[in-house]
Amino acid sequence: MEHTIVAIHAHPDDIEFLAAGTLAGISRGGGRVILASMTAGDCGTVSQDPNEISQIRVREAANSAALVGARYYCLGFKDMAIFSDDASRRRITEFLRAVRPTIVVTSSPEDYMADHEATAVLVRDACFAAALPNYETRHQTPATPLPEIPALYFMDPIGGVDRNQTPVIPDFIVDIEENFDLKIAMLMEHKSQKEWLRVRHGIENYVSIMQKWTRERGALAGIRIGEGFRQYRGHPYPQDERFQGLVRKHIHIPLALRGDVVSPASPVAEVHAGAAMAANREPGAAPVDAPPIAGGQVTDLVDGVAASALPDSPPA
Ligand SMILES: [Zn+2]
Repeated sequence: MEHTIVAIHAHPDDIEFLAAGTLAGISRGGGRVILASMTAGDCGTVSQDPNEISQIRVREAANSAALVGARYYCLGFKDMAIFSDDASRRRITEFLRAVRPTIVVTSSPEDYMADHEATAVLVRDACFAAALPNYETRHQTPATPLPEIPALYFMDPIGGVDRNQTPVIPDFIVDIEENFDLKIAMLMEHKSQKEWLRVRHGIENYVSIMQKWTRERGALAGIRIGEGFRQYRGHPYPQDERFQGLVRKHIHIPLALRGDVVSPASPVAEVHAGAAMAANREPGAAPVDAPPIAGGQVTDLVDGVAASALPDSPPA
């Protein structure tokens, strides 16, 4: 079976920090990969207005996705305004039906900030709803319901810990050595964040922070560089390990799950988190009333989903 993998996180650049190496490998291997952020990162600036920074960040995210041949969508939410409500669930469901994933990878349900956690809940429930024939998204031209619930996976939380600073151990770590340069190049496309992180969060070099984080994640499994993932085990989501199958040559089990070593809490709370942690928010994103779409990368779908086609007004 040929899989379509859709990665959805809250803000532009979250995927680059947490999963881009793995997704780049799948895409380069011929897999169909789609990237999406809930917001356009409208709060990730100290000098531009929301629309201005949103346009910039959506373009950056599209450029990043283009490096690995992936399509990027902005789903039109606003920073700090992602909530699990009726309109939002219908919007994400419509998006999933339109892009038709068999695998969905999203943010961690436990993370340091609200947008990340709300995204996880919304995406989890939209995966369920997307396969319900009688669930209507109220889109003007609704896509066909999915034939089955996609398999669902979570990325690591920022910093590798929950809100109590308890380590969150991934089910498996993907060795991304072969695609690490590409992951770095993708993150570097988010040029607007360099100044934001420096001024707002005191982070001089966000790329080195990502590198440090990725090394620490790899160390959990005794490898040099890695990205961690957990599979959602709830009924009735698919339990076959299809995502693992796509990266099986590069999978390592965390030492802590092998019963021989206890992995230390990751200090990576500094990642995009020195930022995040320091201010308890992140180099953000922002929504757009009419979501700006990435330079030519966004399609009618996005306009429809993100913009006005949905009768229920978007959150925020
Ligand atoms: Zn984020």
